[in-house]
Amino acid sequence: MRLSPLALGLIATLSWHANANLKQQVAESMPELESLYLHLHQNPELSYKEEKTAGRLADEMRRLGYDVTENVGGFGVVGMLKNGDGPTVMIRADTDGLPIIEETGKSYASKVKVKDDAGNLVGVMHGCGHDIHMTSLIGTAKQLMANKEKWQGTLMLVAQPAEEVGGGAKAMLKEGLYTQFAKPDHVIGLHVSAAVPAGKVAIAPGYALANVDSVDIIVKGKGGHGAYPHTTIDPVVLASRIVLGLQTITSREISPLEPSVITVGSIHGGSKHNIISNEVKLQLTLRSYNPNVREQQIAAIKRLTAGIAHSAGLEDSLVPEVIVHESESIPSTYNNPELAEFVTSAIKQEIGAENVEQSQPVMAGEDFGLYGRTDDNVPITIFWLGGVNQAVFDAAQKSGEPLPSLHSSKFAPDYPIAIATGVRAMSNSALALFNQK
Ligand SMILES: [Zn+2]
Ligand SMILES: [Zn+2]
Repeated sequence: MRLSPLALGLIATLSWHANANLKQQVAESMPELESLYLHLHQNPELSYKEEKTAGRLADEMRRLGYDVTENVGGFGVVGMLKNGDGPTVMIRADTDGLPIIEETGKSYASKVKVKDDAGNLVGVMHGCGHDIHMTSLIGTAKQLMANKEKWQGTLMLVAQPAEEVGGGAKAMLKEGLYTQFAKPDHVIGLHVSAAVPAGKVAIAPGYALANVDSVDIIVKGKGGHGAYPHTTIDPVVLASRIVLGLQTITSREISPLEPSVITVGSIHGGSKHNIISNEVKLQLTLRSYNPNVREQQIAAIKRLTAGIAHSAGLEDSLVPEVIVHESESIPSTYNNPELAEFVTSAIKQEIGAENVEQSQPVMAGEDFGLYGRTDDNVPITIFWLGGVNQAVFDAAQKSGEPLPSLHSSKFAPDYPIAIATGVRAMSNSALALFNQK
């Protein structure tokens, strides 16, 4: 998509004036959206288990008049509205909760407990705000249906499961999201922010979220008695050298201009004070933006671990195993700069330029990026929807106390303001995209 600034302004003006009372219409729909939010918040489901959530969203979309398909790539839901000739705009919301016991102290807090796959009883909470995303999707669906004489094209609503485990977008695309339904011209999404005040929006053009890889390293040695270390090759010592060696990959091998994170999040080995074990396991998370940096990180980890093992005298069969969990890998989210600029101007005109800021990229991951990484190269953009109550935000600024982050048991977004802002921002972005010619 390539639009001149003049065209941008003209389009925006047209779509806006045609829909000057969006704010009012969204305000009128807030009671039902708030009750939908509270229902979703109190009934969160874990990744790959979003059956009831999907059912409720499908009902909502059907009630609004969308052509709905369920069970797309697991509990994915697709709602279609073909409304004449025009572009296809896809809006995505994710649907899964997290294994967290909610500690917000709110009257509407989730009390759900379920057994996880390992058989442990865990609390479930929408600690990443996906309940806000779903409610905003339904609110937007309502506005675009109610105002369908103001746009032409195809609207594709996507409720995507299993975001937290990086599986949902992959599964929906694999099941033919772009071939069985429609290939979108633009994909837009939002994610609630635990750092931006409710009522505001922040957007990062270009790289917005990182490549994420989970990597295991199994360090092998030759165990024995702790009192006779000279008869062993100690994997605890090797693992220690590996952990320190890994620190030089980002600092000495990767360009300082390219973001890179290599974190060892877990290290386990041995069983007793006086036994030198045979094995130590490390678990790492890798982050980057550039796909070449990701490849460089993985290659360096393999080379460095093998080198340390060889230097200790281990034979080839005992070099550390480096396991990249490809099925959990998430590529970085790249916000198409032109689409990001277009969406930014659309949101500014709806909620005011003073409420829209440009944000820095973050090293967190989101499988939203996958929608732009098929062979179709569909332009995508995700924006941050402010979630923090303004008074809470101001108090934190004053005291310097950190705010509860996403995935915190204390994350309690100011949902009425966040949802109303999300619906207005998303509805106007879609309207502007439909009316861009
Ligand atoms: Zn999350
Ligand atoms: Zn999330």
